[in-house]
Amino acid sequence: MTGDDEATLFRRACAVTPGGVHSPVRAFRSVGGEPFFTRRAAGARLTTTAGRELIDFCMAFGPLVLGHAHPAVAEAAREALADGWSYGTAEPYSLELAELIARRVPWAESIRFVSSGTEAVMAALRLARGATGRTKLLKFAGCYHGHTDAMLIRAGSGLAGVADSAGVTPGVAADTVVVALDDEAALAEAFARHGAALAAAIIEPLPANFGLLPQRDGFLRELRALCTQYDVLLVFDEVITGFRLAFGGYAEVSGLVPDLVTYGKVLGGGFPVGALAGPRDLMHQLAPLGPVYQAGTLSANPLAMRAGLATLRLLEDGSAFRRLEALGARLERGVHAAGRHLQRAGSIFWMPGGARSSEPVRSPAQVDASLTADFPALFHRLLDAGLYLPPSPHEVGFLSLAHDETHLDHLIQSTL
Ligand SMILES: *Cc1c(COP(=O)(O)O)cnc(C)c1O
Repeated sequence: MTGDDEATLFRRACAVTPGGVHSPVRAFRSVGGEPFFTRRAAGARLTTTAGRELIDFCMAFGPLVLGHAHPAVAEAAREALADGWSYGTAEPYSLELAELIARRVPWAESIRFVSSGTEAVMAALRLARGATGRTKLLKFAGCYHGHTDAMLIRAGSGLAGVADSAGVTPGVAADTVVVALDDEAALAEAFARHGAALAAAIIEPLPANFGLLPQRDGFLRELRALCTQYDVLLVFDEVITGFRLAFGGYAEVSGLVPDLVTYGKVLGGGFPVGALAGPRDLMHQLAPLGPVYQAGTLSANPLAMRAGLATLRLLEDGSAFRRLEALGARLERGVHAAGRHLQRAGSIFWMPGGARSSEPVRSPAQVDASLTADFPALFHRLLDAGLYLPPSPHEVGFLSLAHDETHLDHLIQSTL
């Protein structure tokens, strides 16, 4: 393997794997060209199989808030390996991780660990349906909640949603109501029409999967109020924002309290972990206590739990988030001074390639070609300069504690 160049590796990968990759955006379809192959990573750097070093601003799409191969996480994982890596019994590591979260995040009173963000969302939505006895779900166009069928829906005309993916049944699509972000009138209308049938409304409170689309506080407050008024459970999908913007995610930042919250990414420190959390009475509707079934052979895997614990312990005192905010602010200032559009919250940034516009972009309808058309050229120019952005104008970039001012200044200079 090591002797083959990247083009050969990609040809071999395409022969045995759809598109040569195990998650679609890795295939570079949005930027053109073929993906490089990473051999190893440390800190803010990727080393490719061709021996190139790249400063990584994609950071595995979000989990690595401490950087690649952080020594404390590596040490925890090594210790965990020595103790065996799957028990299928109760163990103390998930207990410690759940207690650490519950102590700091009041709305995460009771926690169930799963193996991915998708799985966390799937379980949260089933729990909401089981607890309310209702069938419909409300989501927002442009928000991504993993690849569970009910969430791969975009707004259609009339009552029913239309699937974004082949293989999703019309029945599933009909149960998902899709509403525009940043639009209180559309939200009120959707609740007036479907409110009594809705089990849950799910949102990324800081949408970060169609670029970064910060919502107005008033919009989120209206959503919270409508959910309360119609007895609809409000699910904050904090798979990206949880333990990244603040320990308690966007809920902590905004002061808005969700009924259920989903986590992933940073929670596992780069190992496969997701979680759903909420008040005890609601969470106790899950098996084995309640009628809503949910299970997992590898759930709360001790290796992943111990890596997650090591990660969250380093975030607990809040100093990490202040450092990340300072790094983010420097990048934002520099890219704006270079005349390019950049939207940012803490260590999450979105640089779609276009010229700086004064108005913040808050919904997919506002993401037009003038903002994104230059992205493939910018992406490849940066890659040639040794800087790796996520390979799509609709993906956000991530800073980590392994990034420093030099890395940011290199990126800023290279966007000029
Ligand atoms: C990444 C993501 C998911 C899905 O998590 P996976 O671990 O990829 O299954 C769900 N919701 C949001 C907001 C995400 O960013």
